[in-house]
Amino acid sequence: MSEFSYMETVLSINNISKHYQSVTALNNVSLSIPKGSVFGILGPNGSGKTTLMSIILDILKSNTGNYSWFGKPNDSSQRKRIGALLETPNFYHYLSGENNLKITQAISGRGNAKDIEEVLSAVNLSERKKSKFSTYSLGMKQRLAIGAALLGNPEVLLLDEPTNGLDPVGIAEIRTLIQTLAKQGFTIIISSHLLDEIEKICTHVAILKKGVLLTSGTVNEVLRNEDIVEISAANLSELKNCIVEMGNYLSIKEEPNLLQVHFPSGSADLEAINQFCFSKGITLNLLLNKRKSLETKFFELTND
Ligand code: ADP
Ligand code: MG
Repeated sequence: MSEFSYMETVLSINNISKHYQSVTALNNVSLSIPKGSVFGILGPNGSGKTTLMSIILDILKSNTGNYSWFGKPNDSSQRKRIGALLETPNFYHYLSGENNLKITQAISGRGNAKDIEEVLSAVNLSERKKSKFSTYSLGMKQRLAIGAALLGNPEVLLLDEPTNGLDPVGIAEIRTLIQTLAKQGFTIIISSHLLDEIEKICTHVAILKKGVLLTSGTVNEVLRNEDIVEISAANLSELKNCIVEMGNYLSIKEEPNLLQVHFPSGSADLEAINQFCFSKGITLNLLLNKRKSLETKFFELTND
């Protein structure tokens, strides 16, 4: 089981739907986000990621459903525990990074002067804090934006496509920063349209397509490098003995009505399994490669 199984839930989202006139941006989405996770919301453009983030930040109202932060009814004191980067902040190009943060702080009222030093250090900009924003690289600009989200010492960081528009160096900088912040114990909710990005940074992932949640779970569960074959027959213990005899698997997990057999990636051979079971007098009533079906989902997802 994952190390997050017994942990507190930071955010629970229950049956949220959102319509913009005729467009259904979110369709009955439910999710729960464990404390300490780096939770990726993965979906192509237009799948509803920004809408979902806006709703949980109380910037937009949903049409149906509700959400709850930290297991409590929503009020403004919860909002202080959440730092967010939803749109690129309008920093002043002719001011230093440090002065830009001072202005952000004055406007938002989050944190104090001491925080600015800590935040600059957290995003690794202390040495360049006196430099004009206009002299920053793309990655540094985005790190300053994440710094702005860190003002006021939040517990949760919500980042909407933080690597969008960055060059490869900038993307790598942001990835490193997110990994560092995750180690420090922040719960991070991050949206992206790139599977690869989520796979590298996140512990958990939820996949959205056209406002519908396709799947969610730990990255290992959803994207693991194993073939998972679901298999069933009238007599499960007989079937299990048969699979054990056949061999070449990594593990067998017993579910109420089926067995989940894990194979090294690419090595599950459904025909061979079917033939072997048949030769032992077992008729299968289920034989499904789950890894394949997820790949198909990703294909559908990224090819729209
Ligand atoms: P994502 O962030 O995943 O790209 P969005 O949440 O921005 O997706 O958008 C989800 C859907 O809602 C899209 O079809 C988009 O065109 C639509 N949408 C978003 N904002 C508005 C709006 N203010 N008015 C009308 N439609 C909108
Ligand atoms: Mg968006």
